[in-house]
Amino acid sequence: MPLRAKVASSVSRTAAALSRAAGRGDGSVIGGWIGLKIDPDLLAHLSAGRAIALVSGTNGKTTTTRLTSAAVGVLGRVATNSFGANMPSGHTSALAKAGSTPYAVLEVDEHYLAQVLEATEPHVVALLNLSRDQLDRAKEVAMMAQLWRAALVRHTDVRVVANADDPLVVWAATPPGDPARGIKPPHVTWFSAGQRWHDDSWVCPECGSTIQRSGEQWWCTGCPLRRPEPHWVVEDEGVLDPSGAWHKVSLQLPGKVNLGNAATALAVAAEFGVRPVDAVSRLGIVTSVAGRYAQVDKDGRNIRLLLAKNPASWLEAFDMADEAPTLLSINARDPDGMDTSWLYDVDFAPLRGRQVLITGDRAYDLAVRLDVNDVPFQHVRTFDDALRAVPPGRLEVIANYTAFQDIRAELDRVI
Ligand SMILES: [Zn+2]
Repeated sequence: MPLRAKVASSVSRTAAALSRAAGRGDGSVIGGWIGLKIDPDLLAHLSAGRAIALVSGTNGKTTTTRLTSAAVGVLGRVATNSFGANMPSGHTSALAKAGSTPYAVLEVDEHYLAQVLEATEPHVVALLNLSRDQLDRAKEVAMMAQLWRAALVRHTDVRVVANADDPLVVWAATPPGDPARGIKPPHVTWFSAGQRWHDDSWVCPECGSTIQRSGEQWWCTGCPLRRPEPHWVVEDEGVLDPSGAWHKVSLQLPGKVNLGNAATALAVAAEFGVRPVDAVSRLGIVTSVAGRYAQVDKDGRNIRLLLAKNPASWLEAFDMADEAPTLLSINARDPDGMDTSWLYDVDFAPLRGRQVLITGDRAYDLAVRLDVNDVPFQHVRTFDDALRAVPPGRLEVIANYTAFQDIRAELDRVI
């Protein structure tokens, strides 16, 4: 590395360590930020010589990144931003901290994908899904798909691993080539991870016609865009690989959505030459991911934490949660987005018949929503009150971002 990059990398590590020592979180954002101030090309310098996979999408990227790191770990040491700091400062910090590693698997905020593709020149990019998120500031989803597509045109050598079930992702992953200018379409491996949430993909991003669905198939009624045949498919409790071999996947993470994330991880690892048969057992090592899916026992209650940030992930959380008392918590602070009107995009009917408790800064927004959906509920002020209100056994907790962090902190205090 050039001297400037070496200095920047060293200062970045020191700043992150100081921030950790001062109890200000894991320090990855501030460390990376300072490093990039000293050397704006630091991320590119730190990426050179590593085989890199980027993982992006609206939902599931933290978990998929973790599973992919485990799978690629078959080959050697893997640098990764495991704490969810998924912007260039977080990537810079993660690579500086890891030192020299042959591999890196980086979670990338979908808005930064083009920039991080440019800086890191990855071997593989995994595109998971696109749906509405943070209504007050996020780009409209079709615009995100357009940005991804434009970024891939500039990086036709990258191998793309993409979700065949999401029309926006399929369109983003398949920009046309231009033989006259020597631009070939990207090489895409398709996986099928299912898509429970369809409300952002009724309109074709190519031609504006309606997308129709039947079973797992979907197709545009006005142009040739349709679901590609996936190479990697979730089947029963396992994953079918492109050769037709089926691998049982035993995860400690709940839900079909995580089997889909496992299929994605195996597909990405295969692009580095990892055989699924060698990687599959390593996926079972992953327990909780930055506190998600963590299980805590307290006063005879087994508490499980599920993070749900936007309509698509709320639907997945309802699917993952057991038929058990459920605490919902909603905040609307800066990291969550201030606009909670998305609550009306989610059907809360699956909660009928369960004991439902609500809490959080915006519990009253939830109260109105649940009332409209005919779901009886009880409001509690604190997590401790919630624990006292439910019988011994499983308590599912579904919370959005800062509400989730609040509950983690409160759990640390009470246990
Ligand atoms: Zn179309």
